[in-house]
Amino acid sequence: MKRLLLLSTTTGYQAQQFRAAAARIGIPLVLASDTCHAMDDPWGDGAISVRFQKPRESAGKIREYARHQPIHGVAAIGDAPTATAALVALDLGLRFHSPAAVELCRNKFLARQRYQQAGMRVPWYARFKAASAPAQAARAVPYPCVLKPLGLSASRGVIRADNEAEFVAAFKRIAALLRQKDVKIMRDESAGWIQVESFIPGREFAIEGLVTRGRLRVLAIFDKPDPLDGPFFEETIYVTPSRLGDSAQQAISDCSQQAITALGLSDGPIHAELRLHDDGPWMLEVAARPIGGLCAGALRFICDGHLLSLEELILRHALGEPVDGIARESCASGVMMIPIPHEGFYEGVENLAAAQQVPGIERVEITAKLRQKLVPLPEGASYLGFIFARGDSPQWVEDALRESHRRLRFLISAAMPVL
Ligand code: ADP
Ligand code: CA
Repeated sequence: MKRLLLLSTTTGYQAQQFRAAAARIGIPLVLASDTCHAMDDPWGDGAISVRFQKPRESAGKIREYARHQPIHGVAAIGDAPTATAALVALDLGLRFHSPAAVELCRNKFLARQRYQQAGMRVPWYARFKAASAPAQAARAVPYPCVLKPLGLSASRGVIRADNEAEFVAAFKRIAALLRQKDVKIMRDESAGWIQVESFIPGREFAIEGLVTRGRLRVLAIFDKPDPLDGPFFEETIYVTPSRLGDSAQQAISDCSQQAITALGLSDGPIHAELRLHDDGPWMLEVAARPIGGLCAGALRFICDGHLLSLEELILRHALGEPVDGIARESCASGVMMIPIPHEGFYEGVENLAAAQQVPGIERVEITAKLRQKLVPLPEGASYLGFIFARGDSPQWVEDALRESHRRLRFLISAAMPVL
């Protein structure tokens, strides 16, 4: 019997989507996770307990499992499990990116070096030890610039600085974030560095794609219509298809392919982000995984007259099936990641029905939990929820998302006073 392996730190919504997709394909899915050892088998179907911080050890454990219960395809959610997924795929001869390539994707410094060697447009960049005093670095960098931790994601800890004073403040703020316990656990060796890059002006875009033997197949180009000029870089609205002209879209696809080749990404999903300026596209980063959170819900594909989810497409690809004949549905679609406006405790939301009734809105999904501590960017790493829209045009979808969000009223109580 065929079997698929899903590597995921959580058993949340995205993992459930993969599980449902596997069920539709008719192939059982086994989960490898490091969520919580008290909950070793969350779906009651023999989950493999691993530690994604120890990819070799985790891959060994999965290899042992596969000796008795063969695995025919592998998929990973989030950045952390990609290293284990790559080792497992290499061992078992499955379709996935190589261990070296996924490592490059998780290190913004090494990735920039590769882009530079490949002759791509690269901003000025350097990395500094987070433990060092920032005054000297502040004199060495160009302005405006962007400071960011080497190994985090979702714009966490990414801050723009326009002068030395802002640089020093941002540097200290990121260093403090990197000292936080949960962050240290996430990424030991790269947790000690802060990367600085000159600020790349321009509009920002995201690409969702599947790579087969090193060749990128673009599944969608998303416009990010909100200006992302800093000082923090909150992701909000993603809309596809892009409103860019054909040649600009082609330039974005070509730039993504160049980055994929430079990093050596060969087989599996990618999510890339880039900026388009007057002189052409500038790669920000390529992740060796699909779009995160619930955002995949903004994408649907057509294959032989059937609708396919992104998860289904990724699993089919992981099993070695061709994906050439598959195209994104013809309508426009989009998602809004609802930002956390300020720190506090989540107490609920009003006007949800009104927000859901905006024409074009498919659903509003609130993911914040009652009494949950809410931390906005740059320290935080979550959203209040997600709004999904579909319609005839990208502008219509964008307007629907904004109107739906405008109607929502979030109740956030003040942070508990420090005693
Ligand atoms: P993360 O992995 O945390 O998402 P990114 O490198 O993708 O880190 O940066 C997050 C966001 O910060 C980007 O989407 C972009 O808006 C902004 N950003 C990052 N680097 C630069 C840069 N050099 N110039 C301009 N904006 C940047
Ligand atoms: Ca990013």
